[in-house]
Amino acid sequence: MHGLMMHRPLLISQILEFAAGNYPDQEIVSRTTEGGIHRYTYPEMAQRTRKLANALKKLGVTEEDRIGTIAWNNYRHLELYYATSGMGAICHTMNPRLPADQLTYIVNHAKDRFIFVELTFLPLLEKLYEHFPDVEGFVVMTDEANMPETTLPRVYCYETLLRDESDQFEWPEFDENTASSLCYTSGTTGNPKGVLYSHRSNVLHALFVLSVSGIPIDENSVMLPVVPMFHVNAWGVPYFGLIAGTKLVFPGPALDGESLSELIEAEQVTEAWGVPTVWLGLLAHKRKTGEGFSSLKRTLIGGSALPRSMIQEFREKYNVEAIQGWGMTEMSPLGTVATIRPSQRGDWDKELKLRGTQGRLMFGVEMKIVDAEGNDLPHDGESQGELLVRGNAVISGYYENDEATRQALDKDGWFHTGDVSVISPDGYMEIVDRVKDVIKSGGEWISSIDLENEAIAHPKLAEAAVIGVRHEKWQERPLLVAVPEQGVEVTREEVLEFLEQRVAKWWLPDDVVFVDELPHGATGKLQKAKLREDFKDYKLPTE
Ligand code: AMP
Repeated sequence: MHGLMMHRPLLISQILEFAAGNYPDQEIVSRTTEGGIHRYTYPEMAQRTRKLANALKKLGVTEEDRIGTIAWNNYRHLELYYATSGMGAICHTMNPRLPADQLTYIVNHAKDRFIFVELTFLPLLEKLYEHFPDVEGFVVMTDEANMPETTLPRVYCYETLLRDESDQFEWPEFDENTASSLCYTSGTTGNPKGVLYSHRSNVLHALFVLSVSGIPIDENSVMLPVVPMFHVNAWGVPYFGLIAGTKLVFPGPALDGESLSELIEAEQVTEAWGVPTVWLGLLAHKRKTGEGFSSLKRTLIGGSALPRSMIQEFREKYNVEAIQGWGMTEMSPLGTVATIRPSQRGDWDKELKLRGTQGRLMFGVEMKIVDAEGNDLPHDGESQGELLVRGNAVISGYYENDEATRQALDKDGWFHTGDVSVISPDGYMEIVDRVKDVIKSGGEWISSIDLENEAIAHPKLAEAAVIGVRHEKWQERPLLVAVPEQGVEVTREEVLEFLEQRVAKWWLPDDVVFVDELPHGATGKLQKAKLREDFKDYKLPTE
């Protein structure tokens, strides 16, 4: 028997109209690409979004059309999120840091009809546009006064498109499973794979995030998404932020420590979300200036492992709670959050250990670990296996890529994350490694992530990566590749002595190599594959 309740589709346009009506004086603040700060209210944002939808219609955009964006976090990008999806088209966000061949691949694979581009990335497109046969036009995200000369053909100016449009638009009603947005994820090998979100998955993900205990988000919150809007919908901030009625503060192109610090203080930001690299820059700036934070309460940090030393520094020096989150593009992205139960508070050392894990489940996600044969492993805090997930905001397949879909999803619909994890009896999940990065020494696994976590706590090291290097006797042994803090002398012996106190003896790296920088991918993640390639012939002193 079915329940006798209405079935209304969950649509992104509802978020926009709800927010505009319910929080009429809430603000959206952006650092602009042209320079300066832009601010307006929720209703003003909704008006411009409706104008944009009218403008898109006039350009001939219709349902299912893919509209590319190559843009920073700002109000125009937000308007694009809502206008494209709201009218039934698909917002395809692109990472400008992707290598040119991958960017070309995704524009053509997605068959984008129009691309909206930030002034900053115009030179990038000028070099590539000839390889985009399906793109009918490019819209530069600026006003007429700032429109530059460009060699791009069929160019429009964003503000000119909006200028004479009506601010009324009837958002169509359609099936909630309709595609709303598209984001490609780039693995270490092969072409990027498309993750096609639906209205339903995005709305549900937003509600799931708002239900996480320990990260209260409401009208009193001032949210700074440093995580880019081109990467997994800025972790959902543009959706759940509007549902909750938060003040949104977009950092635009200025992501260095000084600019972020200035914006956080000026706008009295309470919550800031982003990857660890960004916070390294911010903390370095704070150390240099000796300033504190006057408003910041929490940072949600994910995308790669959050070092315990960073959790400590945020707490001890600034009284800011650094909370680890884990997720994937394929999961919209959030899966787990390392918040602490009331019964577990009190003993900071114990808390720190829990906070150093990737955390416990967010409602709406299921997880399990399996061995190489696919058998379920116990959640006993010891068994390590590949992490599998399921949920309403997890992909059921990659966009037009059957081969990748077959590899990632099993017959029961579980998605293979590629992360190796342990799950404790009380539900905390800890990532030990990527399946491909784990180091196997004499048949035993060594966690490169754990080693990196410990190494980065050394005060003279700015960044650290651990990879497995071929070894005659042990098959593989760990090599630590580290970047010293600027202008600081540090020796191999100092680092090894430091690690000796902190990790099992047989985990100690066989060597330490200092470099000026480590290779990072387009989303700021360490590129271990590149590092392994660079050091593939490295002779360890223990050979
Ligand atoms: P992406 O889809 O680009 O966001 O990458 C997802 C991958 O990033 C995950 O499968 C993890 O390997 C890694 N990742 C994300 N968050 C964390 C975290 N908190 N700790 C360790 N790895 C993480």
